[in-house]
Amino acid sequence: MYRRQFLKAATSGLGSLLLGVGASPQPAKKKIEIRGAYSSPDPFWQKGVHLGEYGIDAVFIHAESIDTALIQRCRAEGARVFAEFPAFNGGGWLTQQDGDRQRVIDEHADAWPIDEKGQRSPRQTWFLGICPTNETFLRARLEALKRVVTSHKLDGVWLDYLHWHAQFEDPKPLLPETCFDESCVRRFQAESGLTVRGTRPEEWAQDILGRYQERWRDWRCSVVVDFARRCREILWQHAPQLVLGNFQCAWRDDEYGGARRRTLGLDLRSMAQVFDVMSPMLYHGRSGHSTDWVGRNVKWLCNQL
Ligand SMILES: [Zn+2]
Repeated sequence: MYRRQFLKAATSGLGSLLLGVGASPQPAKKKIEIRGAYSSPDPFWQKGVHLGEYGIDAVFIHAESIDTALIQRCRAEGARVFAEFPAFNGGGWLTQQDGDRQRVIDEHADAWPIDEKGQRSPRQTWFLGICPTNETFLRARLEALKRVVTSHKLDGVWLDYLHWHAQFEDPKPLLPETCFDESCVRRFQAESGLTVRGTRPEEWAQDILGRYQERWRDWRCSVVVDFARRCREILWQHAPQLVLGNFQCAWRDDEYGGARRRTLGLDLRSMAQVFDVMSPMLYHGRSGHSTDWVGRNVKWLCNQL
């Protein structure tokens, strides 16, 4: 996945550092709480250097790419190992790569995010989300998480793609209204006590956005937090020593018309009650921001907590 071909930092509000592979192994002038590298450490190893020479003491690696040999080598070089675990990523569940094409998986069609017109919301550039109340999908993710934390001796897990269907990493964000399928509307009614009029997704959407929009946006945030709690429970049951982190959109609430909460369904304070560490994805270059945007947004995020 090309968006992650550079390193990202784990930020806990204590301090962080982004370090490119081409950086020189200079001694640090300030005390750094954690220096993390994202994705496979192979670029370092192919250059014949070990992680300790760069002061890297943590690596964040896609869960499916982790094996015992990799963990042992990282540990031998002084780095802790954290698994990146995708949450609401529909790729591989809704579609499958078939040569140059994406083949739709018909048996999972009920998990497709549905927009306000009652249509399947398409892939937003490279990202395809999911209906985040589809219980079959959610249980499959929780089972996968259990496998990850029981198969490897990790230091922690970072949930990724934990948001409603949207594209927030490109310079022009794509922010569809979802999800108005039967699963979401039924659960919204059950948990809010409200009654939604209509018999089809487009009618439900019109009624919800017309009469209950604020309650709907609040409820969408609660769906994200609820899944995070279920992941936390998996850790409590099977690997309670692990740190639970979250790679999260780095927007402030006043950017993009409030889309952090409105579209992505991210309520920072309620999410912070579940996670040990929040890692804002501060991709200023690829998302069309200046470097000072990074500092402004880190400051804003820290002030929220
Ligand atoms: Zn849905």
